[in-house]
Amino acid sequence: MSQQWIPNDDFLRHTLNNPTGLSPCEFRLDNGVTVQLWDSGVICFEPAKAGDKDIVLACGVHGNETAPIEICAELVQDILQQKLLPKQRTLVLIGNPAAINAGKREVEENLNRLFSGHHSKGAGLINDERKRAQALEHYVTRFYQQAPEGSRKRYLYDLHTAIRGSRFEKFAVYPFLHGKPWQKNQLEFLQACGVSTVLLMQTAASTFSYYASNTHGADAFTVELGKVRPFGQNDMSRFAEVRASLRALVADAPLATQDFDEANFHLYEVYRSIHKQTQDFKLHFADDVQNFTTYPVGTLLATDGDTEYRVEKEGEALIFPNAKVAIGQRAMLMVIPRSVKGQLA
Ligand SMILES: [Zn+2]
Repeated sequence: MSQQWIPNDDFLRHTLNNPTGLSPCEFRLDNGVTVQLWDSGVICFEPAKAGDKDIVLACGVHGNETAPIEICAELVQDILQQKLLPKQRTLVLIGNPAAINAGKREVEENLNRLFSGHHSKGAGLINDERKRAQALEHYVTRFYQQAPEGSRKRYLYDLHTAIRGSRFEKFAVYPFLHGKPWQKNQLEFLQACGVSTVLLMQTAASTFSYYASNTHGADAFTVELGKVRPFGQNDMSRFAEVRASLRALVADAPLATQDFDEANFHLYEVYRSIHKQTQDFKLHFADDVQNFTTYPVGTLLATDGDTEYRVEKEGEALIFPNAKVAIGQRAMLMVIPRSVKGQLA
């Protein structure tokens, strides 16, 4: 029998109809799965007999990044309609419903720069994105803390699409682990999701994935799945691998992983971060340049008043260029290839 709390089992529509919050409720499906709606865009599934993983899937942290929202909405609907049986505890988060309704990346502030307490720094909880970041931290904490006793594994995959095209269509950002080894099985899982380009960060960040990794010890990633498009204009066949892998993870079904071989990956680390210092900051390449584009050593990349930025290293690639950021903010990240040989667990 269908449940009555989420009309038509349409979690996304219910979220967008109630973007500022809704009354929590709990019900049980015929297959024994307990469903808890905690807030707008926050739904938790507890199998009657849960496996050893606590999985958080996040989408819509940037409101115009629709493909991940569609992937998560479909997964939730299939669970509610008992087409997909979760065997692991799973929390699905639609990050920024108000921004989704506005069709914008953000309403006032980039939500993915507000985690690990950054929401309360400076001016404090002055806008809805800051309040939402604090609430999302609270829900992730509750989810992990409510897990059964015993040896458990925590995961958080924060799914995005990028503003610009990419030389490698899909890539993941592996948050800074403070010297702990990278997880081979996670690289294998990403590869099964169709993601074989990974940026290994070396500094703390204010992102959702760094928060889950650093605060909760989760294996956590920001996963960029392609280019931003409006709802209904995503070619869902391009996401077949990630959809199948996430569903298998939640259902505790076999994953289509292969043994890790570095030759099948593009692994990068940050070489330098270029911050905008003056109003004259200017990028010296086309607006539509792809992420991970490389230029010969010496090529002029950007000027900022009297400062020139040129390619310094062989293989140095640019990502996330944006001349429109506020002064003091990061305008571009420069990355270089690196190896993880002997540094995996
Ligand atoms: Zn994003």
